[in-house]
Amino acid sequence: MNDMKNRLTIALMLANLLLGVSHVSWADKNPETPQFWLDSGINAIEAAEKLTSNKKYAKNVILFVGDGMGISTITAARILEGQTLPDNRGGEEHSLSFERLPYVALSKTYSANQQTPDSAPTMTAIITGVKTNDGELSVDGTVRHQEKSAEVINAHKLKTLLEQAEEKGLSTGVVSTARITHATPAACYAHTSGRDWESDADVPAGVGINDIARQLVDFPYGNGLEVVLGGGREKFLPNTQPDPEDTDKKGSRKDGLDLTQQWLNHHPKSVYVYNKAGFDAIDARQVDHLLGLFERSHMHYEHDRPNDKGGEPSLTEMTAKAIEILSRNKKGYFLMVEAGRIDQAHHEGNAFRALTDTVELSNAVRKALEKTDNRNTLIIVTADHSHTFTIAGYPERGNPILGLVKEPGEVNLAKDKNGNPYTTLSYANGPGYRAATSPLALTNEETMHPDFLQASAVPLARETHAADDVVIFATGPKAYLFHGVQEQTYIYQVMAKALKFKPGR
Ligand SMILES: [Zn+2]
Repeated sequence: MNDMKNRLTIALMLANLLLGVSHVSWADKNPETPQFWLDSGINAIEAAEKLTSNKKYAKNVILFVGDGMGISTITAARILEGQTLPDNRGGEEHSLSFERLPYVALSKTYSANQQTPDSAPTMTAIITGVKTNDGELSVDGTVRHQEKSAEVINAHKLKTLLEQAEEKGLSTGVVSTARITHATPAACYAHTSGRDWESDADVPAGVGINDIARQLVDFPYGNGLEVVLGGGREKFLPNTQPDPEDTDKKGSRKDGLDLTQQWLNHHPKSVYVYNKAGFDAIDARQVDHLLGLFERSHMHYEHDRPNDKGGEPSLTEMTAKAIEILSRNKKGYFLMVEAGRIDQAHHEGNAFRALTDTVELSNAVRKALEKTDNRNTLIIVTADHSHTFTIAGYPERGNPILGLVKEPGEVNLAKDKNGNPYTTLSYANGPGYRAATSPLALTNEETMHPDFLQASAVPLARETHAADDVVIFATGPKAYLFHGVQEQTYIYQVMAKALKFKPGR
């Protein structure tokens, strides 16, 4: 077999010489011979034939959500990380940790009233099994957006998987790099017709229900969430109290409540931390309830995290700590982990931060796979919705993914109709719009800078979500149920099935 491979490699090199292919490319460094592809295909088939469906019930479920992580985001992040690896063959061949999970399905993300959804109805679909309207969290679609009546809202609450888990005596946690009161984490524990009602200062007069932060601290099921880690401190602190990190700024609550103190009062053996030092000092064996709020608003992008004044844990570190605390419960646990800022970087038209936050999500999933038992833990990785992000042109293998398009065998960059070079990555809309007559030609140095905004076709202040399907990756008990093209609500059904919960009850 090896002889055969060598002979083919040599044959290919000779063919290249005869054809006058002279440039040093990925193929010269690590030849992808015909036999290489046939062998890797055979290996993939062998691995697929060995797959057996784990039909047992799960003890634990971990749900990872990459907010706004459409398929093009995953592909570009895979190449970006791949191009940093010493033995890469261009980077395209690399896989993020969760791309190696054995089961995959597609998820249809439209909401009850919108073709292209926002994070409130999509997370409601994932965590309750029911689609609802944009802007609404874990209430059904008969409730109007920003409905004020407590009676109406309470009559149409949807039971979340996290609430069911608490009722059954499991431990539960939510982790996010966004404000913990932001749509994706909030759909797990709050019920509201207005996703923006994060503190009482955000709630308009006449609304009969509590704000989202208050709903988290007053959570009525089981013994409350065991782990809450993310950003959004201002939503928990009164507007008279200075922030512990940004001491020149205050909380935003008008009702005078310090909800971090209420959290401590509610729970025995509980801890509240707001910086990296406090986080690192936590002994997971001693703490039953952990609240960590590491920024006044959203936490930093992974790229900017080292610059934080008070210090912040990474998504990977928060995931590891959450698993350590939750796994002490013999009955099991449910944990939701959100990479919340992939979405926000895309809205800013900034691919670099969206992709580096996606790579950090891959790190967090890898850590979770290491720290759990695949036989009893269902791990799901998905997105709530996509973005208008594209990977286009005909760049050669190994062309820097953040760079300008250079086609195979060409010395010069590819040019558009106006004679200007263009990037592989772009958006259908957003703030990176440049007039067609823009006189300055871009350089790779500019486009690969972390702050570069990729070009967009339609000028908008903020880039928008997109309506294309997103991927569901899974491993562990009942993971084999993920197949085909499914409604987003199917994710809830598989999690409920795996934990033996009655859907909707
Ligand atoms: Zn968004």
